[in-house]
Amino acid sequence: DRIISANLMMDEQTMEFSLRPRYLAEYIGQSQAKENLKVYIEAAKMRKEALDHVLLYGPPGLGKTTLSNIIANELGVNMRTTSGPAIERPGDLAAILTNLQENDVLFIDEIHRLHRTVEEVLYPAMEDFALDIIIGKGPSARSVRLDLPPFTLVGATTRVGLLSSPLRDRFGVVSRLEYYTVDELSYIVSRTADILQVQIVGEASREIGMRSRGTPRIANRLLKRVRDFAQVKGDGIITTDITRAALSSIQVDPLGLDEIDHKMLRAIILSFQGGPVGLDTIAASIGEESQTIEDVYEPYLLQIGFLQRTPRGRMITDAACKHLGLPTPKRS
Ligand code: ADP
Repeated sequence: DRIISANLMMDEQTMEFSLRPRYLAEYIGQSQAKENLKVYIEAAKMRKEALDHVLLYGPPGLGKTTLSNIIANELGVNMRTTSGPAIERPGDLAAILTNLQENDVLFIDEIHRLHRTVEEVLYPAMEDFALDIIIGKGPSARSVRLDLPPFTLVGATTRVGLLSSPLRDRFGVVSRLEYYTVDELSYIVSRTADILQVQIVGEASREIGMRSRGTPRIANRLLKRVRDFAQVKGDGIITTDITRAALSSIQVDPLGLDEIDHKMLRAIILSFQGGPVGLDTIAASIGEESQTIEDVYEPYLLQIGFLQRTPRGRMITDAACKHLGLPTPKRS
């Protein structure tokens, strides 16, 4: 039940659904990605064609799934959702593809985790809207080509570097989602509060925005927790005082760092003299998975300049030491 996590719990999935903006105009921030997509969507609609395949990448919770939903809505087509690890065999993908309707959007989350054999089926599907299937076994086996309806693949990934280049090259539109500004996050918090029908003062929205690590999903999660405190310890209205008290109770510091960030930064300073130290070593020393650290924690710490990546490992910065109130380790 962590605030900063890539996993969604059940009630949160329902919440995410209701909080998701449905059209580009409601989608806050990401102006570059948005402006370009607007043009491509408009053009595809004018030509009555499927939109070119779109690859969205960036840290978890920045709005990749949301944007894919919006693309389908703006195009006026259906979206089918699946994920890389969920498609186990080529046949599973074939079943999904043959069920698509003309110009539909197929959303594949965690597309970097597609099995190689599945990926190979995807190439002709993306390029020629065709499916090559093998019928029979042994010497009598032959390949048959099936036509598919034109469709748009929207792939999402947190690890674009892990995508094979043949797959990456087949996306006509590649967009990187950026961390959101505090203004954008404050706005998202106010919007969510409206949807949840809870009153929040402007300064409190901003306080939550500042502690959301540039991430709308975290902003929404924090708001939900603060709302609980406001209900139980106050009169239901989210004030600045309640917000600060609540966030301090759930151990989210003024920059949005939680206890895992603190553990990790302290370990680098105190056990590894500030680095450089390898990610796996850090992970082992604090009992976390390296992948979680790499996907979820580290990107933000790099972004705010608390960590540096060097060929020999991660290094702490003076800013991080200052934030934690620890002296900068002397490097030998
Ligand atoms: P991702 O797929 O990148 O992990 P999601 O699309 O699931 O992220 O977004 C997480 C949450 O953040 C959703 O509840 C969504 O409502 C909210 N959200 C994301 N981007 C925006 C945005 N630009 N404006 C408003 N809310 C957003």
